[in-house]
Amino acid sequence: MANYALVNCNLIDGKKAGIQPAMTLLIRSGKIFAVGRSEDIKDTSGYKTIDLGGKYVLPGLINAHMHLPLTGKGTKASSAGASQERLLKILKTRIGRSLLLGMMKTNAAAQLHSGVTTCRSMGDLFYTDIKLRNMVNSGKAPGPRLLVSGPIITPTGGHGRNFGVVADSPWEVRRAVRRNIQEQVDVIKIASTGGVTDALKLGEAGRPTMSLEEVTAACVEAHMAGLMVASHAESTEGVRIALKAGVDTIEHGASLDDEMIELFLHNPKSLRGYSSLIPTLYPAITIGNLDSSITYMTDVQIKNSVMVYEGMISGMKTAVKAGIKVGLGTDASTPFVTQYNTWRELEFVIKYAGMSAQRAIDSATRINAEIMGIDDVTGTLEADKASDLIVVQKNPLEDIRSLKEVSMVMHGELFIDKPKFKTIPEVDRAIDSISFMDS
Ligand SMILES: [Zn+2]
Repeated sequence: MANYALVNCNLIDGKKAGIQPAMTLLIRSGKIFAVGRSEDIKDTSGYKTIDLGGKYVLPGLINAHMHLPLTGKGTKASSAGASQERLLKILKTRIGRSLLLGMMKTNAAAQLHSGVTTCRSMGDLFYTDIKLRNMVNSGKAPGPRLLVSGPIITPTGGHGRNFGVVADSPWEVRRAVRRNIQEQVDVIKIASTGGVTDALKLGEAGRPTMSLEEVTAACVEAHMAGLMVASHAESTEGVRIALKAGVDTIEHGASLDDEMIELFLHNPKSLRGYSSLIPTLYPAITIGNLDSSITYMTDVQIKNSVMVYEGMISGMKTAVKAGIKVGLGTDASTPFVTQYNTWRELEFVIKYAGMSAQRAIDSATRINAEIMGIDDVTGTLEADKASDLIVVQKNPLEDIRSLKEVSMVMHGELFIDKPKFKTIPEVDRAIDSISFMDS
């Protein structure tokens, strides 16, 4: 097992703002042993020295909301409807399930090679994400650190009903949570409101679909086992119900009022006394702005998408101002959200929500780690944490697009020089056409 000395780098450590020039990191057995100025750490004997020649080192990115099954290629099957049902039928077979695990392995590897060293899987099929997490943990598959939710818990007619566990009434919800805990999930994912792809009427995306009693049941049961609850919530009323019930992370989000801000900051029913927000601008902005001829979305889905991202952006701005922990996730697997372009979400939060590049990087590293409760292990580059880091050529604080080309990834004991992944050129072209960084 090699020990590495990364010398002569510009460091963004995830703790301090800005760049620290001429720095050295000593890595021993997958952990950071020391970080300091190159002139202070001269003795690198016993380490394999890598001179980074002024390249930029930052913490490995954390994707706090993603799904492992699909590539993000825009197909009819990735939106709700008959073709999705057909795909699900195939996946349910034995061959289908092993195909699914294979696709998820490839997707996890793409996340890692594109610079993401931790992912939170927020809704899966047949508990395959648990299988994959265990394979990654035991070194049988390369991949980022995985925190997984297993299947989403949703009510009859709710968001994700085609692939989730359907539960109505507080006791059914409790049973579903218990089942997921028995299967060894890391977090409970519920859908307390509708979503864009399954809304049939304009304005319906985000309609509350779980009662306060049902969401409370999920929280009480999960918290008893020490697990957090993440809820898909895309309307103000939906977010309010989730917060009142004690949900720990609001996924996606909507515009917030004072009562909700207070509940985020001090949430007595949450696991840790506060709740956090994980916006995912990427899918909503994409579906809302790309032409239906390439997204296969209906007019209602497109208009609902615009409504959802406007609410999400408003909520996120309010939350940042109020000091609420705001993380970052891409919702990979949804149409046009690939497994290799987490950097796009950073671009979108900068452009659409007015975040600074520094803040976007903080959200994707340290803040995501805090929200997920793994900040003792990863999220910043300091002694005793995992050596989860990426190397890029140009300064990401000046141009976030430098994260698109990662020249090196380290994730614990894995060291990947010149990472590689398969791209989907038509998706990249489509997103480039609605990317506004240059405007
Ligand atoms: Zn999602």
